[in-house]
Amino acid sequence: MQLQVRNIFTDTLPSDQEKTNEIRKVFNACYSFVNPTPPTNPSLIHVSKEVAQSIGINDDDITSEIFLNTFSGKTVYENSKPYAMCYGGHQFGVWAGQLGDGRAVNLFESNDQTLQLKGAGKTPYSRSADGLAVLRSSVREYLCAEAMHHLGVPTTRSLSLILSGNEVLRDIMYNGNPAYEKGAIVCRVAPSFIRFGNFELLASRNDLTNLKLLTDFTIKEYFPHINSEGKQKYLDFFQSVVSSTLKMVVEWQRVGFVHGVMNTDNMSIHGITIDYGPYGWLEDFNPNWTPNTTDNQHKRYRYGNQPEIALWNLYQLANALYPLINEAEGLEKILEQYPKDFEHHYQKMMQEKLGFSGMNEEQEQIVNQLVQILQLSETDYTIFFRLLSDVKKEDNVTGALEKINYAFYNSEEIQGEILSYWNQWMNDYLQQLQKEIRNDAERKVTMDKINPKYVLRNYMAQLAIDAADKGDYSIIDELYTLLQNPYNEQPEYQKWFAKRPDWARVKIGCSMLSCSS
Ligand code: AMP
Ligand code: MG
Repeated sequence: MQLQVRNIFTDTLPSDQEKTNEIRKVFNACYSFVNPTPPTNPSLIHVSKEVAQSIGINDDDITSEIFLNTFSGKTVYENSKPYAMCYGGHQFGVWAGQLGDGRAVNLFESNDQTLQLKGAGKTPYSRSADGLAVLRSSVREYLCAEAMHHLGVPTTRSLSLILSGNEVLRDIMYNGNPAYEKGAIVCRVAPSFIRFGNFELLASRNDLTNLKLLTDFTIKEYFPHINSEGKQKYLDFFQSVVSSTLKMVVEWQRVGFVHGVMNTDNMSIHGITIDYGPYGWLEDFNPNWTPNTTDNQHKRYRYGNQPEIALWNLYQLANALYPLINEAEGLEKILEQYPKDFEHHYQKMMQEKLGFSGMNEEQEQIVNQLVQILQLSETDYTIFFRLLSDVKKEDNVTGALEKINYAFYNSEEIQGEILSYWNQWMNDYLQQLQKEIRNDAERKVTMDKINPKYVLRNYMAQLAIDAADKGDYSIIDELYTLLQNPYNEQPEYQKWFAKRPDWARVKIGCSMLSCSS
């Protein structure tokens, strides 16, 4: 394995003077040098060959000892200097002070990508925790990031999933029942792992020298299209982050993804999905749903609130960048535009999901009514949109409703008032379809490219985890392969085009997830 190693982050930005992994507050620095803790007996579970290739790792390298050692944290790759980043964040709406990479270690940069281990042991930022990750949460992160990429949602990527050979103690539901679980390490890949919280922490400490250094570095390395100077440069940078964050959230809404912990330390400066914890996928369409039991009471991070939370988080980033600009007006203008831009992009996306070309007010009405009636009885979000592309212009209302009937969790509920709403809606929809210039077949092709057939349903990940825990990685392999082509029919995998089974309704890991990982 011969990699082109670069360390631009650490070569450019100031480091913590101390070099131990003792827990501490770190000032006047952007990171601390820290090596991964070597795992006892690492063994490979899965590698994404596509990601490997993009970094310059070939098929032979993947089976080499150096690969296993490097990406499990057993050895430090030649010419690299691993480090943990120092950042803060707003957690559940409250400023939490210094957080930092408590169990993530950045290895090096290669081919314009940063490689980072998650679950590689203690760092100066581990606070009261162990710096490790369990197999359960690592399988979820590994599979979901790759699934999201292939759905076309901006995300970090997964290179490898490795069993550490160590046991990790976790109290899954935080109810005083800790148990040992298998430990694992994911190597994840992104342009960088810089978060909103990196800027926020420096600003909160009034460390303007390093705030400017970090921002200038970020712009120069990752936003090369920005060529303005002075205040305008920072405004252009902020605009760019607002736009990419907005687009990311529109994509989440499109595929029914609920992040679960949209704290500002989990918001990437690149507008990519990062930190897969207690995330989940909408099964029945319920905008109030969040999989995260820690957020059960207020449901701050529920599906329907994600667009607003992204804006709230962008306000925190604006506050952090403010000292570089010293004028609120430009930042405010960008933030005030967000709701309008969001609504536009959201409407466009939803109208496309319905198979409409172009945008108009009648179609907008149909979208808004659908969002209401989807909630009248449990209706599977993914299955509904996928089946909708089978509806034809000349169908009658009853025939069209039969085609989407499988999306209802209990089709017996579709009677009386609920049925009359559906009849009305389908009638409007069919009328709108008749105005489409595209024929049924053409419309179906475009609809099936944005309405996935397969997503990583919560129960599917759990089945993969249960098997993996017993040493059987076949479901991980199967789901990984399936989710590389989520828009394709793949009849051999038809069994995964199914509503959540009843057993998964209340099972931990399926509909309820905690932050324990
Ligand atoms: P999260 O909620 O997973 O995004 O984590 C919030 C903060 O807690 C981050 O600073 C993490 O690095 C840290 N953290 C989470 N889990 C652990 C762990 N097991 N050991 C050390 N730090 C952790
Ligand atoms: Mg995090």
